[in-house]
Amino acid sequence: MKIGALAAPKTYSAEPIPSGVLPEIERLLATGDLFRYTAEADAAVSLLERDFAEHMGTRYALAVSSCSAALFLSLKALDLPRGARVLIPAFTFAAVPSAVVHADCVPVLVEVKDNYRIDLEDFSKKLVDADAVMISHMRGHTSDMDHILREADIAGIPVIEDAAHSLGTLWSGRKIGTLGKIGCFSFQSYKLVNGGEGGMLITDDPEIAARAVIMSGAYEENWKKHPGFQNSFCNWQNRLPLYNLRMQNLSAVVIRAQLPEIERRVRDGRRNHDYVAKILNDSGYFSVPDALPQEERAPDSIQFNFVGAWSDEAARQFQSIAKENRVSVQVFGLSQGNARAYWNWQFLDDLPELPQTRNMLMRACDVRLPAQLSTEELDYIAENLIQAASLTRTKK
Ligand SMILES: *Cc1c(COP(=O)(O)O)cnc(C)c1O
Repeated sequence: MKIGALAAPKTYSAEPIPSGVLPEIERLLATGDLFRYTAEADAAVSLLERDFAEHMGTRYALAVSSCSAALFLSLKALDLPRGARVLIPAFTFAAVPSAVVHADCVPVLVEVKDNYRIDLEDFSKKLVDADAVMISHMRGHTSDMDHILREADIAGIPVIEDAAHSLGTLWSGRKIGTLGKIGCFSFQSYKLVNGGEGGMLITDDPEIAARAVIMSGAYEENWKKHPGFQNSFCNWQNRLPLYNLRMQNLSAVVIRAQLPEIERRVRDGRRNHDYVAKILNDSGYFSVPDALPQEERAPDSIQFNFVGAWSDEAARQFQSIAKENRVSVQVFGLSQGNARAYWNWQFLDDLPELPQTRNMLMRACDVRLPAQLSTEELDYIAENLIQAASLTRTKK
């Protein structure tokens, strides 16, 4: 195949926002009605919460400014004591340990295996001294939730799911984000639903929901505009700090219009991922870890490992040859200052050494594959990766 013939796929650009939003956006601009609590009822943010809760099949949904805000509020809503120990995977985005620190808790990093999922042995060992568990389904890879939920349940420890990058993933047919006590999602532009910024917290627990709603900034009696749990709110009014992490109406309109797109994006993303995975696996240069048997993925990117022993230098060379052909591939641990490499989280006291996770990060490759890419564009990406690997190998 002539690789140079096609323009390089734009893996960082988004799909257009459905044009049906325009009348509602114009109405909001004309009236200036941007704050979620101005309208008596049916503000865009409230409608988004209603529809998202229905989509997920949960009792409560709270729209906030980001997934990081949702993670922070989850910890606060659980009323964990200062210094509580929160297990997180050592392979996640820096926003996750940051949310833990922000909530005055201490992140405890758990080893991750070369299939990008939590090492269950290390998890069980560290669960003994833990107060909460925050599972990042990093890049949409689901850790063994049967094991994690069972062990946490026996220990009486709450599980928060960071499903920022897992909207649409199923685990034994159940929606990811609904398995733990609280689920958190992101609408930042590189996620499945693009609001620029934005997040959502879901739960079935009325006390957790009431606490999160108030702390998100439902001051005075604005909690009355959240349906369904009058009593719980009376318990908490004026007894919790207000962190003001609300979403505003323009974001909600843009996000809500994309909920009907989720199913198609999940289907196309999975098809694209599996198409490229097969080519990479067949090449002999790469291996793409399989989904777990319980897992139906919703990927918008692909992660893979090198087959055989590759030096740091070879892996770097592979990255830069691919880049010359305009395919952006990052080896997590080799790109400068990567926010997913735990040794860069220098804001943590006592950064631990986690050899298994470090080895994985030093070789795991990451390529974005948004749902809208065509088969020709997928071929371009796959062929370029293989060519870069073969050139790297012959140069040695
Ligand atoms: C994007 C992401 C976040 C942060 O989401 P924001 O909405 O940008 O705060 C957290 N965790 C994971 C796994 C993510 O992919």
